[in-house]
Amino acid sequence: MQPASEPPTTSTTESARIVVVGGGVAGLIVARDLARAGFAVTVVEASQRTGGQLASTRVAGIEVDAGAEAFATRGGAVEALAVELGLAADIVRPLDSPAWLVGRGGRSRPLPAASVLGIPADPRAPDVVRVIGRPAAWRARFDAVLPLRHPDSYRTVGDLVRRRMGAGVARRLVAPVVRGVYSTTPDALPLEIASPGMRDALRAAGSLGAAVGRLRAASAAGSQVAGLRGGVHRLAASLADDALAHGARIVLGARVARADATGVWLDSGERVEGGVVFAAADIAAPATRTRTIIVAIAVVDAPELDGAPRGTGALVEAGAEGITARAFTHSSAKWTWLADELPPGRHAVRLSYDGMPDDPENTVHTDLRAITGARIDRLVGLDMRTWTRTLESLPVSNGLDAVGEAASVTGLASIVAGARETAREIAERNSTDVTAARSGGAEG
Ligand SMILES: Cc1cc2nc3c(=O)[nH]c(=O)nc-3n(C[C@H](O)[C@H](O)[C@H](O)COP(=O)(O)OP(=O)(O)OC[C@H]3O[C@@H](n4cnc5c(N)ncnc54)[C@H](O)[C@@H]3O)c2cc1C
Repeated sequence: MQPASEPPTTSTTESARIVVVGGGVAGLIVARDLARAGFAVTVVEASQRTGGQLASTRVAGIEVDAGAEAFATRGGAVEALAVELGLAADIVRPLDSPAWLVGRGGRSRPLPAASVLGIPADPRAPDVVRVIGRPAAWRARFDAVLPLRHPDSYRTVGDLVRRRMGAGVARRLVAPVVRGVYSTTPDALPLEIASPGMRDALRAAGSLGAAVGRLRAASAAGSQVAGLRGGVHRLAASLADDALAHGARIVLGARVARADATGVWLDSGERVEGGVVFAAADIAAPATRTRTIIVAIAVVDAPELDGAPRGTGALVEAGAEGITARAFTHSSAKWTWLADELPPGRHAVRLSYDGMPDDPENTVHTDLRAITGARIDRLVGLDMRTWTRTLESLPVSNGLDAVGEAASVTGLASIVAGARETAREIAERNSTDVTAARSGGAEG
């Protein structure tokens, strides 16, 4: 067990002591907010670093995000946190350019502009017809006239799209987006996870196309995601620094084996006492749905990519010949801060895979050429990462606090808002004890 900071010197009452299991972004938020509120916080992190799925890697001399690389701006929670952490000047917007769809037979088209999850607001729009063809577009028009009787009966994205707009829209537009973003099929993707607001929008709008129109109108104009100059992993580093500055203790290389409401036992057998906040999946409740993602981050010499032939990235249709990746991001086209760090003709890209390719370097090279249509002279650097994400876990027992993916919350926007709310609730529940701890502590 390796302490990253000295224990705080304040003496505390039992309930003002908090143990956070897991030092990913969710755990760090709780630790930082509660440390600032006067709690004696210990973060117990199994690995040798904090941040979890917020991580960086150095490829060909540049530091880039190896995990999450953007956050949704909806709700404003991540931006507000970044501002509090002194990162306001480093909040950046990506290039505003549509993603592309790379289909079978080498077809590549921009994803229709007015869509959510690939579901078009208007199936008659020319950019939709170009992708799905006239017969499928004609079938999709039934959505506007079919009565919408039971919005609750649509369980999955696939079920909803096929029943309202037909198989063509589901297969050609929605499946590549769902595969690229969620690494699954529309039929395996619960509607609530993919689009929490969709059911209400359906009820209000009366058709799927109109519901998509509503959802788009409700989201702010302009880019719906943002990032940080230098990478979003900086958020985790700043949270850890601020938590430490406010007396939190972060213990690295310490895996929690089990926990109860009053503390945790480490693999080493050691006990750490305190009110427990679960910020690591699978400890509080078994994960019921996980997914493994392989991310390839490459730096390439390819002047033909200067014109960003696939905008900020592309989603690959299953079965597209000669391509193993399911999604491509042209990172240095998406983020200008990254382009600024590279010499002319050099680019940073990212590819996602469902499994580790046998020959990563060759596969990445082949995929990049096939997806972008550009000649890629050489891979200057390559980093392959395997990530396991929890999409769903059993509910945590009553009375126990869980945040982030441990609470089946995914994506930074929801995780930040949820973790801060949990920290507020814990602070309110224990406010008397903290006051007592403060007045009895070394600072008092
Ligand atoms: C490749 C990739 C791309 C992504 N892209 C985006 C994106 O662009 N936008 C977005 O919003 N989200 C994205 N995400 C998702 C986002 O990063 C995660 O939802 C979020 O970071 C999860 O944070 P968390 O703190 O809940 O969990 P984690 O980051 O998983 O942290 C959990 C921590 O708990 C530790 N731990 C586990 N078990 C134990 C134990 N027994 N004892 C002690 N510690 C333990 C782990 O080591 C880890 O540090 C992406 C994720 C990946 C992998």
